[in-house]
Amino acid sequence: MKSRILYTKPSITELEIRYATDAAANGWGDQCYDYIHRFEAAFKKHLNVEYAISTSSCTGALHLGMAALGIGQGDEVILADTNWIATVSPVVHLAAKPVFVDILADSWCIDPEKAEAAITSRTKAIIATHLYGNLCDMTRLLALGEKYGIPVIEDAAEAIGSVYHGKRAGSMGKFGAFSFHGTKTVTTGEGGMFVTNDPELFEKVLTLSNHGRARNQTKQFWPDAVGFKYKMSNVQAAMGCAQMERIEELMARKREILNFYRTELSNIEGIAINPEPQGMINGAWMPTLVFDAHTGITRERLQSEFKGENIDARVFFWPLSKLNMFSPVRENFNSWTIPERAINLPSYHDIESAEMIRVIQVVREQFSE
Ligand SMILES: *Cc1c(COP(=O)(O)O)cnc(C)c1O
Repeated sequence: MKSRILYTKPSITELEIRYATDAAANGWGDQCYDYIHRFEAAFKKHLNVEYAISTSSCTGALHLGMAALGIGQGDEVILADTNWIATVSPVVHLAAKPVFVDILADSWCIDPEKAEAAITSRTKAIIATHLYGNLCDMTRLLALGEKYGIPVIEDAAEAIGSVYHGKRAGSMGKFGAFSFHGTKTVTTGEGGMFVTNDPELFEKVLTLSNHGRARNQTKQFWPDAVGFKYKMSNVQAAMGCAQMERIEELMARKREILNFYRTELSNIEGIAINPEPQGMINGAWMPTLVFDAHTGITRERLQSEFKGENIDARVFFWPLSKLNMFSPVRENFNSWTIPERAINLPSYHDIESAEMIRVIQVVREQFSE
């Protein structure tokens, strides 16, 4: 059996270990928030935003932000049918209704035209998820937000390193949410970040994130609202600080891997890979191949061929509306059909060229059969 090629694995060096060890040994008492504050400061600087609040997950950051926007019973939130469940679960937890719309065939991100058509008087937000590092059409989405007075939320969990006409993914909407899960470009094991440039929203989320205790509340143990407990620990933040010191290297390697695949596969007709249109930088979180329908290549065949070579290749997200807890929206044609002929390729920081060549070989063989 050939050696296994994992699809993702974090890059942990002596620096992460040193900081985490220091936090575990010394990060208590007066120092118990030191790495958290450092991590938030480093992240804000990287993203060029005013406010950042570290959280236990991206799901938590989204939940806090949507709760702070007042989204609740009877409200509607528009999002792409192609999404991870984490993007929609806070909508459901808040008793609001998710409205699933189709993605664009080239970016695999929400179709602004479909988003506009789905707007009603009950729409309270549009979520822009930058899928696999690909960027949403923020110009059009933000224009929709302006026109209808609806906040645009960025789920930038997969978009560290992605830049849209000079602005980092996650820094353009009403708020942005990030994930530091072990599979993501920057990791703390589990973790997330809420970011915004809106001072009022920041204060609301800060209060909600601390069990409803406002920071100017002088009475001890006195919550002013029922909030949430989605905090990051100082030990996790210590790892995050180390990752932020290495962020240029982490981002550059992701792009190098995507570009390697792109170059090696460029002479094959009938494959699309993560696009990088003019004016945009793709953070390249997950190199993804979508095969033209005429190739006849299917997800099932790809999965089985990769498995045979002991390579982890992941399926493209299922349409959320196909899941049992939602009603199917089959007219979301791209969301429903692209996954049937697509695959995510391994892309962890330390992957070797020889391993990527093994991956490419499997793809090439699909065309020689
Ligand atoms: C990973 C991911 C999340 C969830 O992140 P957690 O930190 O696990 O909550 C949300 N949205 C997208 C698009 C993701 O890829």
